Amino acid sequence: MLQAVREGGATIRRGAAILTGEKCAAGWTLGVRSNVTETGASCDASTREEPEEVTGRFVVNAAGLHADRVQAALLQVWAVHLSCLLPDPLYLSTTTGSLSLITRCAKQEGGGPGFEIRPRKGQYVVYSAPSFPLLTRPIQPVPSQRTKGVFLFPSVHGNIVVGPTAEDVTEREMPASTDAPTTARLQQLAERLLPRLTEVCHVEGTYAGLRPATQHRDYQIAVDAPSRWVTVAGIRSTGLSGSQGIGRYVASMIEPHLQPSRLQAPTASPYMLDESGLRQQFLERGDGCVELDGVKYRVTHPLTRIGWSQANLQAQGIAKKARL
Ligand SMILES: Cc1cc2nc3c(=O)[nH]c(=O)nc-3n(C[C@H](O)[C@H](O)[C@H](O)COP(=O)(O)OP(=O)(O)OC[C@H]3O[C@@H](n4cnc5c(N)ncnc54)[C@H](O)[C@@H]3O)c2cc1C
Repeated sequence: MLQAVREGGATIRRGAAILTGEKCAAGWTLGVRSNVTETGASCDASTREEPEEVTGRFVVNAAGLHADRVQAALLQVWAVHLSCLLPDPLYLSTTTGSLSLITRCAKQEGGGPGFEIRPRKGQYVVYSAPSFPLLTRPIQPVPSQRTKGVFLFPSVHGNIVVGPTAEDVTEREMPASTDAPTTARLQQLAERLLPRLTEVCHVEGTYAGLRPATQHRDYQIAVDAPSRWVTVAGIRSTGLSGSQGIGRYVASMIEPHLQPSRLQAPTASPYMLDESGLRQQFLERGDGCVELDGVKYRVTHPLTRIGWSQANLQAQGIAKKARL
């Protein structure tokens, strides 16, 4: 995906946080601070460093767990700025849509952005990969209005995984914590669904993620062309599966407003990663990273880290033997 994005003419700035934003003739000027933590940017402006300016024709706020803060920080500053300019009829005529957006924002409790991120934690338990196909497809409950429920599924690395839970929490920082009573409940469920599980597998690890849910059930996707502002927030679940569709949908709504358009269709042939080469690299380096096209990336997903590390144990012949 990164390769496709670069081919499309984009510059990727990793570890950079948007702290401020101001509407300008070209679109927006954003204040960006580089070298924030490897685990993700936060909206914390409490730094003495002067942010670097980045200008763009549109802002797409896809800041996940921090999307409401980014929205409030940038749009509200602009709203105050606008209120000083309101007597100017030209400005008014070009910002009708923006004003309605801001009015809507101002009407929200606390002057918020129209949605509030309410993180929903999902905990998982990961079992070792059995030496034979114990589970070949996901076991899935009937979804409810609130959640699609807890699955038992085989990972791409052969591990058997149970999760995720759906817990409303206030924490926003990753990595999220797991707790023993919840993981014990997940294990009980897994072992009830697959009675032979404990005979042939052991628990390799646990992990948790935070879905960027909001008070609304639906995704919060909105294009406000006069404001040059796009919201892509509240992508609470199925965001990974839906990401390409969401991207195409948003691009189709922005493109008519970009003259000349610089958006390019993604390349027809998907890039195939050399997964075994990457795993080998991960094991040899030992620093939890891999290098791709000369850029070092930390492998953050626990399923990949556990799956690849387990491959290492098996390769060295020191994997715990299945009791079968
Ligand atoms: C428990 C769990 C279950 C899930 N189940 C599914 C599933 O079944 N199917 C599926 O398809 N997907 C699933 N997902 C994925 C889910 O949909 C993702 O959370 C979703 O992909 C969120 O995408 P996002 O791009 O909105 O946010 P993120 O992926 O969180 O991306 C937001 C980015 O914005 C950055 N950012 C934040 N603040 C700033 C700032 N001020 N400046 C610059 N950058 C900033 C962050 O660092 C981050 O990189 C699940 C996730 C979890 C946690």
